[in-house]
Amino acid sequence: MSPREYDVIIVGMGPAGASAAYELSRHGISVLAFDKQIHPRYKVCGGGLSARIAKILPLDFPEVVEETVRRVQFTYGDRESFLIESPDPIAFMVMRQNFDQWLADHARQAGTEIHEGERVVEIHNGEDGVDVVTTQARYHSRVVIGADGAMSVVAQQCFPGRPLRKIPALESEVHEEGSHPFQEIPTALISLQAAKKGYGWIFPKRQGLSLGVGEFVQGPKRPKQSFRDFIEHEPMLTGLQIPTPLGHPIPIASPQAYRSGHAWQGRLVRGRAMLVGDAGHLVDPLLGEGIYYAVRSGQLAATSVADMLNQSATGHLSHYETLVANEVGPEFRVAGRLGKIIYGLPHVVHRWAGQQFPDAYQRVLSRYCEVLQGKETYQSLWNRILQRLHCPWAANP
Ligand SMILES: Cc1cc2nc3c(=O)[nH]c(=O)nc-3n(C[C@H](O)[C@H](O)[C@H](O)COP(=O)(O)OP(=O)(O)OC[C@H]3O[C@@H](n4cnc5c(N)ncnc54)[C@H](O)[C@@H]3O)c2cc1C
Repeated sequence: MSPREYDVIIVGMGPAGASAAYELSRHGISVLAFDKQIHPRYKVCGGGLSARIAKILPLDFPEVVEETVRRVQFTYGDRESFLIESPDPIAFMVMRQNFDQWLADHARQAGTEIHEGERVVEIHNGEDGVDVVTTQARYHSRVVIGADGAMSVVAQQCFPGRPLRKIPALESEVHEEGSHPFQEIPTALISLQAAKKGYGWIFPKRQGLSLGVGEFVQGPKRPKQSFRDFIEHEPMLTGLQIPTPLGHPIPIASPQAYRSGHAWQGRLVRGRAMLVGDAGHLVDPLLGEGIYYAVRSGQLAATSVADMLNQSATGHLSHYETLVANEVGPEFRVAGRLGKIIYGLPHVVHRWAGQQFPDAYQRVLSRYCEVLQGKETYQSLWNRILQRLHCPWAANP
């Protein structure tokens, strides 16, 4: 029997796959999507969304928001602490099982056919189309979108030899019925001392706290030790019952990808295969924020596929690489640069700058929160810093 035909097959229904599926189905394109798991499913993740994501999500997004954060506390140990407050949301907190299911439901309602509990095992990326083999059957489509996360089978099979970088991260969920101070006034905490060359976080949720550590700079990894140090020394965690954390890699794009003028060709599109979200290593190298970029890259990929199928002027899949390189590339380049400075010298950055220039440092942290709100970009933030330091190349981040 010949395999069933679709315009697009999507592998993985996390935020990247579900966003691509929703946009494609809204354009009347036939989409089949697979997930090896069944929603609602737990995903190791802090569930912190920068507030700018509201601009790119369906309007009923507030349904799945657990807490709206307008206060962020940045600490280095228990002495230096800076509290940034804003009248506008800085971040939204979600539980991934609810958020991902909500996105998948939107895609389904828009017309996407979803097969849950069906794992994709093989992809044959041919000139005339793609054969996708699952644990249950064989399917055919004109395009395949790999949205299957950090350990992507689509990336492994269709994009061998990509420069890859994955950082270790650990996450635990504490159940606390609304009595923690960070729940009473929803506050997120970022601790630069928690992890060697990374940071620790506490995010408030309706029924508890999400907390974890990530290590962002290459070198010997010791996330378990960092996690132990974090819960031992962070005063806001004192007295809490903290379950053993779960680990998952965060796939950050390789540093070469941020270089000015670097060709993105073949990084996200090869033949009829495309990569979005974690599968494409589209994660902010400073914060480890991946959900915003998963949603956005899913949308950009869908635009390029729709243009190709409609034979418009920009109608080729590789246009997706151009869209990502233009929108995300310059931001990741600056974020990578900031990450090297901050995680390379956290003591100097936070403790020294915080003690010597507290007002200026507080302003930089406020501006950083404005990046999360979408009022600033990493590039404009970097420019402001250079202008303050009177650097002649301030206009060219
Ligand atoms: C500890 C930790 C904390 C984090 N905290 C944050 C945070 O607070 N904010 C933030 O923005 N980002 C955070 N991230 C990153 C964020 O989790 C990811 O960037 C985001 O989940 C990427 O979405 P995605 O859709 O690309 O992939 P995923 O969410 O990983 O979804 C991939 C989907 O593909 C399915 N799949 C995989 N393989 C197959 C297959 N072979 N066949 C069929 N289906 C398959 C999986 O079941 C899954 O549903 C964190 C990551 C970690 C590890």
